Amino acid sequence: MFKRILIANRGEIALRVIRACRELGISPVCVYSVADRDGPWIEQADEAVCIGPAASKESYLRIERLIAAAEVTGADAIHPGYGFLSENASFAGVCRDCNITFIGPSPEAMTLLGDKVNCKRLARQSGTPVFPGTEGGIEDLEEAVKVANEIGYPVIIKASAGGGGRGMRVARSEAELRENVDKARQEALAAFGNGTVYVEKYLENARHFEVQTIGDNHGNAVHLFERDCSSQRRHQKLVEEAPSPGVDPAKRMKVCESAATLIRTANYCGAATVEFLMDKKQDFYMLEVNTRVQVEHPVTEMITGVDIVQTQIRVAAGEPLSIKQQDIKVNGHAIEVRINAEDPDKNFMPQAGLIETFVAPGGPGVRLDSHARAGYRIPPNYDSMIGKLIVHGPTRSAAIARMRQALNEFKIGPLRTTISLHKRIMDNTEFQNADFDIHWVERWLKANASESVQA
Ligand code: ADP
Repeated sequence: MFKRILIANRGEIALRVIRACRELGISPVCVYSVADRDGPWIEQADEAVCIGPAASKESYLRIERLIAAAEVTGADAIHPGYGFLSENASFAGVCRDCNITFIGPSPEAMTLLGDKVNCKRLARQSGTPVFPGTEGGIEDLEEAVKVANEIGYPVIIKASAGGGGRGMRVARSEAELRENVDKARQEALAAFGNGTVYVEKYLENARHFEVQTIGDNHGNAVHLFERDCSSQRRHQKLVEEAPSPGVDPAKRMKVCESAATLIRTANYCGAATVEFLMDKKQDFYMLEVNTRVQVEHPVTEMITGVDIVQTQIRVAAGEPLSIKQQDIKVNGHAIEVRINAEDPDKNFMPQAGLIETFVAPGGPGVRLDSHARAGYRIPPNYDSMIGKLIVHGPTRSAAIARMRQALNEFKIGPLRTTISLHKRIMDNTEFQNADFDIHWVERWLKANASESVQA
């Protein structure tokens, strides 16, 4: 097992990894930018190294500084968290070259699954359902037009190297497709340094369904069932839950098993999430694979009892998976809401500054993963998420009731957060009935634009 793990991240996920390290008897080391000097998570580490100025490009994204920090502190492994360099294959490669274990997949497996065209090809071979569309990247516009005419409009043009909801264009007719392929290519080249784009069927009114998987270096891979993340705004998830409500058990098992097969086929070691869209008939289509731990991993931990971060560390250290597929059972229902320092009444304007009041909720089945507390000054430089509130209950409606109470107890001020928005989501009948799709939050916000969400 590792002696020291350097955490190449910040905020709540840095704290989450520190907690996992402590429980495994591993010494955690943090890095921080100048803006994060007073980050409350840092005091939980055994050592901390400043790696540069506030801008991520000058600190959390600087590979050579992270490696130097690992060498100086004697860390034998690096946990990348999510975001930043977590899906950067060259970072994983540099770690390997420096004899530091990257806690995640090999650069080869990351490239294979992280590139959407490659990943879709492999998914087809391993029986994971994918959207109908072009076989690979578009070489010739006429070929794309032919495929689109076969599958029918609307279609979506996507960048193979895309991420963060960028590099996508919907085409509702042949004319729109012809007009947009070149633009999408140029955008992809500018944004990701790779101009490969492909076309697939565009699904309206879908639900987001994602399967948590984990593999080891001994050819084993399991799935930990799924999460539903249909409550989104601007492609950013707001509420996540597990299991996905109302899904046919046989269809669900089939898609979860196909995700584990895909990971196994890719010789994948570590945690990965296979994302799907699900239509009204409960047919599934793979979107992409995320080759890292996800923000919403706690809901899966709550229903399966598997510690995903500890498992990531164990498999990276070469241990075989200690869990067998048949032993993984779903217990109850879990919901997570993202607490963002944003004002839902002012178009989700980010809120930086001092937290004066911070009263955390508690009680049975309530978990708070947050680095924030009273006296913490939120820097303006990073993601606005300051924590995740997760509840677990025997049923979905019990979990909603528990979340409602936890949100009522939770007080953060004076800056505004998404707590008030989540209270309204929990009270919403569409949400309560799981009668939703990935656009429901935006539709609902638009319909209630004049109404304050201040509770
Ligand atoms: P990214 O890597 O940028 O997050 P994804 O492939 O995960 O890209 O897609 C992001 C979002 O775009 C999805 O959650 C969905 O809302 C929308 N989307 C992508 N592909 C499709 C599709 N074929 N049909 C409908 N919506 C899509």
